[in-house]
Amino acid sequence: MLNCSKNMQHKNFKNIDKVTYGRGSFAQLAETVESVRKENNKYFVYVVDNYFKGKPLSTKLQNKPEDLIYYIDVDPHEPKTEQIDSLRDEILSKQGLPSGVIGIGGGSIMDIAKALSLMLTNEGSSTLYQGLNLVKKPGIYHLGVPTISGTGAEVSMTAVLTGPEKKLGLKCDWTVFNQVILDPELIASVPTDWWFYTGMDTYIHCIESETGIRNNAFSLAYGEQSLKLCREVFLGENAGRTPENDDKLMVASLMGGLSLTYSEVGACHAISYGLSMVLGTRHCYANCIIFQHLGDIYLKGHSEFMQMIEKHNIVLPQNLSKDWTEEQITAMAQVSYNLPFMWNHAFGDNYKEIATLDYIKNLFRRL
Ligand code: NAD
Ligand code: ZN
Repeated sequence: MLNCSKNMQHKNFKNIDKVTYGRGSFAQLAETVESVRKENNKYFVYVVDNYFKGKPLSTKLQNKPEDLIYYIDVDPHEPKTEQIDSLRDEILSKQGLPSGVIGIGGGSIMDIAKALSLMLTNEGSSTLYQGLNLVKKPGIYHLGVPTISGTGAEVSMTAVLTGPEKKLGLKCDWTVFNQVILDPELIASVPTDWWFYTGMDTYIHCIESETGIRNNAFSLAYGEQSLKLCREVFLGENAGRTPENDDKLMVASLMGGLSLTYSEVGACHAISYGLSMVLGTRHCYANCIIFQHLGDIYLKGHSEFMQMIEKHNIVLPQNLSKDWTEEQITAMAQVSYNLPFMWNHAFGDNYKEIATLDYIKNLFRRL
């Protein structure tokens, strides 16, 4: 096992303040936020995945008349800086500073809720704060209710936004949710292809986290447990879409997120960021498209991943790069190249000799 943590700055990560877990726990939402409602202008902003508009969940929000509910369609694109800025401006001009933000949805909504919480108290465009510890003031109380499992966005200290120049998170201690409610009943309705792609994000987080120089006993403990759960959900004899597996996948997602937080992601995520930035390919889907071609980098994880693809009859697109121009490949490779900490983690201290721009371009040509 490669491990050079002795020579590295040790991570000091703020975890979620409180976590509720269990079937039906969503019903505890109102009582959970009751004490927070006394702050600021005493109302909550709900950002809810548009999928739930008119669905039973929308009648169980337990909101008060003064609360603002935004149903957001996350399908046209991943969260954008301008989207957060205009939502923030609208909310503040309508009712002033809320008591808190409640996000109900997948990774996109988790990131919108986290970013909104920060941008409600930090002036100017969210593009100013894309990066590590650039946010100036704490955000307001924010609570996440994930409804699809895998990205780990419910636990991570970043709110990933795509801006005019970069796809990069607002990353600081204040980004982390104050409260998360993990109710596995909520993920039952996820379409099976997204259940797979997003679940595989967890699997890839764990493989990348453990296969690189920043792994350590702490990240491995979370990663190994998360991988065990992923294997049960996607490969074991009871694999597939069952309530028991939904219980497991929700925990796997959280633990996978913790594993990568205390370690790092690697080559697949570096490539994925380039693909998403230039072509808008969605994060988890992009990771699956890429990981199928990284057998030489992630030997063991790759063969297991291919077994899972086969078991769940997932068909991933092939030969995408034949339609890409040289300019597009260069632009994608440049985004990936500019994530040196991921390449360093994946390839070690001599990563600059391996992960050259040409090498990365060739990884894109495999897709
Ligand atoms: P998503 O939020 O983009 O949603 C994917 C699809 O599933 C959408 O169509 C959505 O409407 C639908 N959906 C969600 N819950 C559903 C449910 N219960 N029933 C039916 N449909 C449902 O999905 P995701 O894959 O979780 O998130 C991807 C986003 O997460 C990307 O924007 C990516 O950048 C971000 N991300 C963030 C982090 C982080 O640490 N902050 C990590 C990885 C990815
Ligand atoms: Zn990921």
